[in-house]
Amino acid sequence: MLTTEQLYHKFQECTGVSTDTRRITPDCLFVALKGANFDGNQFAEQAIASGARYALIDDPAVAERMPDRCLLVTDGLLALQDLARYHRQTLTIPIIGLTGSNGKTTTKELIAAVLSKNLRTYATTGNLNNHIGVPLTLLAVNEQHEIAVVEMGANHQKEIELLCSIAQPTYGLITNVGKAHLEGFGGIEGVRKGKGELYDFLARNGKTVFINSRDTVLTAMYRERLKTLRSETTFAEAIFYPGDPIELLQESPVVIYRDAAGREVTTHLPGRYNFDNMLAALAIGQYFGVSPEEANRAIADYNPTNNRSQLIQKGSNTVLLDAYNANPSSMVAAIRQFAAMPARRKAVILGDMFELGEESEAEHAALGKLIAESNFDLVILAGKDMKFALGALPKAYYFPDKFSLHNWVMDNPMTDTHILIKGSRGISLESVVQFI
Ligand code: ATP
Ligand code: MG
Repeated sequence: MLTTEQLYHKFQECTGVSTDTRRITPDCLFVALKGANFDGNQFAEQAIASGARYALIDDPAVAERMPDRCLLVTDGLLALQDLARYHRQTLTIPIIGLTGSNGKTTTKELIAAVLSKNLRTYATTGNLNNHIGVPLTLLAVNEQHEIAVVEMGANHQKEIELLCSIAQPTYGLITNVGKAHLEGFGGIEGVRKGKGELYDFLARNGKTVFINSRDTVLTAMYRERLKTLRSETTFAEAIFYPGDPIELLQESPVVIYRDAAGREVTTHLPGRYNFDNMLAALAIGQYFGVSPEEANRAIADYNPTNNRSQLIQKGSNTVLLDAYNANPSSMVAAIRQFAAMPARRKAVILGDMFELGEESEAEHAALGKLIAESNFDLVILAGKDMKFALGALPKAYYFPDKFSLHNWVMDNPMTDTHILIKGSRGISLESVVQFI
């Protein structure tokens, strides 16, 4: 068995890390992980044949077949995490850890866009934000980078603590604390505690935190920590933003804001919630020396292509595609913002919100009421738990699955309609767009 240090030397001979044999690059390190239905050890030989330099594995039988190319450890996942932690300790750059219930990826992209104006920035690719993605993110940071932005996701307690132990952020931001992953966290208090593990880490290690001063939950969480920590180590600094007045001029169909110097900035993102995401990016940019002009330009130029808040024109219809994910707080935000959008005719196509556990029925029912109050011209619901929303929506069309929804949309073409599409990842409602 290899020690982490030995493993690190082997890693340094490699050009990158991959856990997927379909994404092997020449001389990369293949890491064999296990899932419910697969065992990466079985793919080690294929990975080497495809060009990987070494395979990190935890099956001695595989190591016997390729002794020169295998790095045998007791547990592949733990070894990957240890390797990332070790590598992190060799880096001296600032690392910004980012978590929250909603808006992490968007905020991360905005922060990275702003920081890139000044610094060689590495940011989490896509949504690689879990116990596997965070180590992979860290291992992709190298001496060329001057700063890194690491998205951390969690659906249960102690996960952010683990991710912090790997990424060891020197700066941190919680976007917000809302109703997401209620099941795994054990209710909203649990979410507060779980996300608060980022503040705990920063405080314990004397690091700096960025806090949206208008978010009363976050400011309360910060104050709680100050009270309990007292003489122990505490935050190096707490930066409450926005420091200067930045005014939201318009939130729909896209955000337009006026910065402290009076410059108007038109963006590609809709909704007040995205304005919050922008404020975070502006604050972090300012802290790291990006000029307000450059920061504004980065935000104005950012155009999402990832099913989050995308505006798409389909014939005479305007589709607001927000099908990347959904939970009660992001649903409420999206529906309110869509309701406020000026349009002749409006339709919503909404799918199940997953991972709500025993609160699922009540949350879907509450959503039904909000939709009813919003007076949309057409309401289309899909998924098992969306039936709980129907109580308040006698005129809604309901489909237990996505495929019956596809058929209906094809048979009932819409025209001149603004259409909001949103649901959890598991129901991947973006597939509906092709039928509109
Ligand atoms: P995930 O948990 O999947 O990683 P995330 O936190 O990275 O999600 P995003 O992917 O940026 O979040 O955004 C997902 C959706 O959440 C958006 O499409 C939008 O509907 C909503 N959203 C984005 N920002 C906010 C915010 N600040 N507050 C509330 N909802 C938001
Ligand atoms: Mg994300």
